[in-house]
Amino acid sequence: MLAVQLLGWGSAPELRDIPVPEPTGEQLLLEVTAAGLCRSDLSVSDSPAGRFDYPLPLTLGHEVAGRVVAAGPDADGDTVGSSVVVHGVWSCRICRNCQRGRENYCLALQPVDGRLAVIGNGLGAPGGLAEYMVVPHGGVLVDTGSLAPELAAPLADAGATVHHAVSGQADLLDSDAVVLIVGVGGLGHLAVRLVSLRGAGHVVAVDPREAARQSATTMGATAVYSSLAEAASATRDLGGVDVVFDFVGGDDTMAAGLATLVPGGRLVVVGGAGGSVSVAKNRGIAAGWQVSAPFWGSRADLVEVVALAESGELLPEVTTRPLDEAIDAYARLRAGEDAGRTVLLP
Ligand code: NAD
Ligand code: ZN
Repeated sequence: MLAVQLLGWGSAPELRDIPVPEPTGEQLLLEVTAAGLCRSDLSVSDSPAGRFDYPLPLTLGHEVAGRVVAAGPDADGDTVGSSVVVHGVWSCRICRNCQRGRENYCLALQPVDGRLAVIGNGLGAPGGLAEYMVVPHGGVLVDTGSLAPELAAPLADAGATVHHAVSGQADLLDSDAVVLIVGVGGLGHLAVRLVSLRGAGHVVAVDPREAARQSATTMGATAVYSSLAEAASATRDLGGVDVVFDFVGGDDTMAAGLATLVPGGRLVVVGGAGGSVSVAKNRGIAAGWQVSAPFWGSRADLVEVVALAESGELLPEVTTRPLDEAIDAYARLRAGEDAGRTVLLP
């Protein structure tokens, strides 16, 4: 089968022909129907050896929709035939965070000797940028019914991650709220929508790309800007920002975001550009500041975004391409040439 594999750290992924996996034990085999490309894939590919505790070659793809086509001998075969999306956090299911339904903070998925641990498909385990993929058990699947695969796939990461990040700020998202969304790509455009759905009065979005700003407007932004300086100035006129969602995560965006906050305001850093920001009490940052870095989403977050998509309230904007154009599609993602989420179809 065709698969998109990372063969060496710091190199571009390649198209390869590999055997179709066979499900063993509790595993289920999926025929992949759609898989999204995430900027995190570029972070993984670009990394030097030693940052991730992942075996190579690694089939990428952590945002996967598929159809269950076979079950291992100990698996529940009832799901065979169903259309699903994969929760890509393959957690231990027994630690205290898993018991709390916070699988995305599973204690078994912590770094080992500073190296990032295997999280799940495409992030350490074979992923879904391939024609077939195995999952460890049916507990990581969420039924998607008749939802189109290209709309289901982006919910696995972009949708669930944004749902987790936004629902953590629900108490501030009222009609007076001023929200600043930095970076309106695969994740950010869904954040604009979810924040608007929660009823936030002012949803200010910033992105240097024209297509991204159009997408922000479509998703419900009340104002869009091409630079953070302009957006910051506009939010000052609104009295300052309650919540900044930073989908870039660079030194400049984090510093600028923090500076816009009102007392009790929050900087929520989702982007992984490697930036840092310094915080301290009584050093010029509005009182009661909170800075957080949410990671992915729980299975419940994924269930909720699937329901929102089925009801038509949260429909990702997607650019679809065939799987065999993966290498070019990654180059286009890096250059910011496609709108919304790029989704590959095997
Ligand atoms: P993307 O490339 O689709 O979107 C990023 C957007 O940011 C683009 O539209 C780009 O034009 C815009 N941008 C770049 N620099 C900017 C700036 N200075 N100001 C405003 N906008 C700017 O990427 P994506 O797939 O949506 O991922 C976004 C980030 O989130 C990545 O860093 C990714 O690694 C990270 N991520 C984090 C999690 C998590 O669990 N925390 C999960 C998935 C992705
Ligand atoms: Zn756990």
